[in-house]
Amino acid sequence: MSRLLESYAAGRWHTASDEGAPLLDAATGEEVARISATGLDLGEMTTYARTVGGPALRALTFHERAALLKQLAKHLGVDKDELYDLSFRTGATRRDSMVDIDGGIGTLFSYASKGTRELPNDTVVLDGGLERLGRTGAFVGQHVYTSRPGVAVQINAFNFPVWGMLEKLAPAFLAGLPTIVKPASQTAYLTELAVRRIVESGILPDGTLQLLCGSASGLLDELTVQDSVAFTGSAHTAGMLRNHTNVLHGGVRLGVEADSLNCSILGPDVTADDPELDLFVKGVVTEMTVKAGQKCTAIRRAIVPAAMAEVVIEAISARLAKVSVGNPAHEDVRMGALASLEQRDEVRKAVQQLRASAEVVFGDPDHVEVVDGDAERGAFMSPVLLRAPKGAVEVHDVEPFGPVSTVLAYDSLDEAVELAARGKGSLVGSLVTHDPDVARHVVLGVAPWHGRILVLDRDDAPESTGHGSPLPVLVHGGPGRAGGGEELGGVRGVLHHLQRTAIQASPDMMTAITGRWTTGSARVEDGVHPFRKSLATLAIGDTITSEARTVTLEDIEHFAEFTGDTFYAHTDEEAAKQNPLFGGIVAHGYLVVSLAAGLFVDPDPGPVLANFGVDHLRFLTPVKAGDAIAVTLTVKQITPRSGADYGEVRWDAVVTNADGDPVATYDVLTLVAKEWDR
Ligand code: NAP
Repeated sequence: MSRLLESYAAGRWHTASDEGAPLLDAATGEEVARISATGLDLGEMTTYARTVGGPALRALTFHERAALLKQLAKHLGVDKDELYDLSFRTGATRRDSMVDIDGGIGTLFSYASKGTRELPNDTVVLDGGLERLGRTGAFVGQHVYTSRPGVAVQINAFNFPVWGMLEKLAPAFLAGLPTIVKPASQTAYLTELAVRRIVESGILPDGTLQLLCGSASGLLDELTVQDSVAFTGSAHTAGMLRNHTNVLHGGVRLGVEADSLNCSILGPDVTADDPELDLFVKGVVTEMTVKAGQKCTAIRRAIVPAAMAEVVIEAISARLAKVSVGNPAHEDVRMGALASLEQRDEVRKAVQQLRASAEVVFGDPDHVEVVDGDAERGAFMSPVLLRAPKGAVEVHDVEPFGPVSTVLAYDSLDEAVELAARGKGSLVGSLVTHDPDVARHVVLGVAPWHGRILVLDRDDAPESTGHGSPLPVLVHGGPGRAGGGEELGGVRGVLHHLQRTAIQASPDMMTAITGRWTTGSARVEDGVHPFRKSLATLAIGDTITSEARTVTLEDIEHFAEFTGDTFYAHTDEEAAKQNPLFGGIVAHGYLVVSLAAGLFVDPDPGPVLANFGVDHLRFLTPVKAGDAIAVTLTVKQITPRSGADYGEVRWDAVVTNADGDPVATYDVLTLVAKEWDR
């Protein structure tokens, strides 16, 4: 008997108390492992996550969590070959496994980097700007995001045992939520190996990742109002989860990524001689054959102009004829096996349903020639292309989760849009066209039905990542039938896990709560220029108020001549008088900002190392010759960089005129040394 997979629960590996059910090699039918969750205490797991994992994670800042994700990504990369070797047993070729294993590791790297660059080195995130709620500015509003003291349950489909886990783990971890991952049983042995390596590394704090191998029955009963479930799988299972009493009445949040009848549309502009035809055909064939078509993003419907239907079918068929099916580890094999014999039965059944209205134009769902394998013991299947007539219903309803796609013809662009929409909501759609008008018409028409749209042509093809790859920086998910969930999308994927709250308070309170200086709160001037302070002594609210400086006409003329910016408003009094906003010569905005820098800097070498930009620059009141300006610079946010001996300091800058009116406001961004003893 093969090994019984273990769950990782409450800080230890758990072996089920029975023999478990066998999991078979997709290509050979041999037993790979057994699986069972019998005896697992699900209540203990959720409690452990909330009481051990959650507090440990929330004690870390976003940057500290990001650093751990990066460390984990590096660690998993070192021994990934053993994951690749085991992955063959799921039916995946080496190329298929790249999407799963390297794709998963890449997602960790991407979140590590986004977490560092786009989230604060803090435990609270601000959402949007400050809202002034009262007349004097003594009462303000600010939206903030904080971590929930709950657990993130992640239920995955069988097709991406590594990526599926990591793409859900990374945003939840960054958000401060401990994870319980429940892989689909069929391929759980690969997830188990990855989790084993993660646990052994000791990189993640105890309780932040637990693994449930086997049935998840009863898991949702343990969840409460601060918990969430991210589910990927069939619409059928999603429906059951949606109806769970803790989701319906208990406040448990449920995100669903379900099945999806994605399409690719060929533009009416594309002729047989255009490179776009080849791109379209390649896209469909790739999506039919990568992972043997077991991808939620695969193209199930190829929507083409009626006049091109025959050409497209011939071209797709010619390419499919070259696809060798068989032992995924064999180097001549292009397409491996489906995940299981049951899965193949499901796909054959789906093809049968499609055949109620469509005809098979390539492949035989019941027979295939197999390279280095047994066509009956292994879950091998030929790619199958169908053609559906106008009015066919099944093609918009039935998801064959395998190497199957159907060609549909359209006569007008509106009909193409309407056909795409009949999928009732998809994860991703492609449009292959080189005509910008077609692109706008179709994309705006189909966007409400899709989570992501690829517009492919000869220009972006060399760099395109293809139709089927969810990217960590772009939203993954789709409306309607696709489940209505959203994952990834860069920091959006993290924010989904956080709670947004509107805070109403005085500016001083807001500064204390958010850790970021708020307009209207106290400024501190202690006689030491803040440019003389390293991060060790610099504090939020530290301020320098400059002397005033009068801007002369010579200054303006000099700046115009020196920079070449001789725009009439700065050089031609008569013309400037006609300007409805200025009524005469005004100083350049950039002159004002430059003079302000001259007013606030402390010139000697010191802890301020560099100015790396400004944010939110606005010129509010024109400055004329003779106006005196002064600047107030206040420390707004301090972000030490881990792994560097400096950090970022954001300064609030307000330039005012002699009447006290703000003439320019902006944030100055600098790098400041953590220590400075010279
Ligand atoms: P599934 O049968 O719905 O199973 C998905 C997951 O749900 C598995 O981990 C399964 O565990 C678990 N599960 C089943 N019943 C459950 C219950 N009562 N409570 C809690 N968990 C339960 O789907 P599948 O056949 O594995 O996956 C194929 C489907 O997933 C296709 O329709 C495909 O389109 C969809 N999919 C969608 C995406 C996406 O991102 N939108 C990605 C991949 C796949 P067991 O395996 O132990 O039963």
